[in-house]
Amino acid sequence: MTENLPDTEDISRETIIMFLNSKGDDRINLFRHAAEVKKKHVGNKVWLRGLIELSNVCAKDCFYCGIRKSNTKVKRYNIRDSEVLEAARFACENNYGSVVLQSGELQHDKFTRRIEKLVKQIKGLSEDKLGITLSCGEQSEDTYKRWYDAGAHRYLLRIETSARELYEKIHPSDQIHIFDNRIVCLERLKKCGYQTGTGVMIGLPFQNVTHLADDLIFMKNLDIDMCGMGPYIEHSDTPLYRYKNQLLPIHERFDLSIKMVAVLRIMMPYINIASTTALQAIEKTGREKAIQAGANILMPNITPGKYRDSYSLYENKPCTGENAGDCLHCLDIRMKLAGADIAYGEWGDSLHYGKRSKAAQADLQQKI
Ligand code: SAH
Repeated sequence: MTENLPDTEDISRETIIMFLNSKGDDRINLFRHAAEVKKKHVGNKVWLRGLIELSNVCAKDCFYCGIRKSNTKVKRYNIRDSEVLEAARFACENNYGSVVLQSGELQHDKFTRRIEKLVKQIKGLSEDKLGITLSCGEQSEDTYKRWYDAGAHRYLLRIETSARELYEKIHPSDQIHIFDNRIVCLERLKKCGYQTGTGVMIGLPFQNVTHLADDLIFMKNLDIDMCGMGPYIEHSDTPLYRYKNQLLPIHERFDLSIKMVAVLRIMMPYINIASTTALQAIEKTGREKAIQAGANILMPNITPGKYRDSYSLYENKPCTGENAGDCLHCLDIRMKLAGADIAYGEWGDSLHYGKRSKAAQADLQQKI
């Protein structure tokens, strides 16, 4: 299959499906090719995003997620602002380059103001050294704009699955879980000027390889700048748990996730692709495998230790008991072994975004 590997970004749906089903040498060649594409277009650096899970209070009731509103077994928390700033200071002092503020989904003025203030404070304390990514769910255009104006410049909002009928199966059917609204929000984010990221869960019940191929095409068509995707891991306190016997074996979900990363790298050579924590939950060296197959972003968890157990989106979430400092040291070694160098102190913005903005400007110039 090596000689058939496309060197361009135009891969047909059939080829994507073939890649996702590949085995043996074909599978190895896919990973190798993705690694070459990565090296050629974005290099072998890995950028860090210190992840701060600032609250697990969530208004949503997604059927797969451990912190869904109806899960009464979760101890709800809100990290104090001072602790968020302390974590950001830690990221700054350790040259992370960027932080991600992630939380359950809330849509009210107090929450909007809180995030706005935290973003400004992080910008201030780091003297603009830290880039800021937000992952705080669906919001109004006004809210996205306020957060952008405060200094956040990247936003991650996973579509979860781009197949409407599947999306509707894994979410309640009500006014706050609307597939189209998620797409509207992604458009809003782009309009506000964010480097916009999305992603999906891989190995969901009722999901097949064709859905996953269409997810990749969806991301390509949406012209995203960043992607964070990873295996679905069942959580016993969620409604989807009842389908646990119908799932792909966990290692197949893992393998499919790495293939998804590889194919997306080939399709969108200049985007940022995260090697997600869920991969590490399955295999100890899971994140390294994704880096070797095309990912270039790592999100070490820097949430204060005492809260980590409560941000249990899925079971066996790794590193919940560790201090942030321990993780950074082991990551550095792990990345070197995987042939990648952590780019300390750099924002590591999406090159795709730069190209997209330039193209839009040129287009505008022509129209004027
Ligand atoms: N509220 C924010 C952040 C959500 S948590 C938002 O909506 O953007 C981050 C991601 O965790 C989700 O987007 C989802 O893709 C993932 N996740 C939730 N439950 C999961 C599970 N059981 N297995 C794997 N990933 C899961």
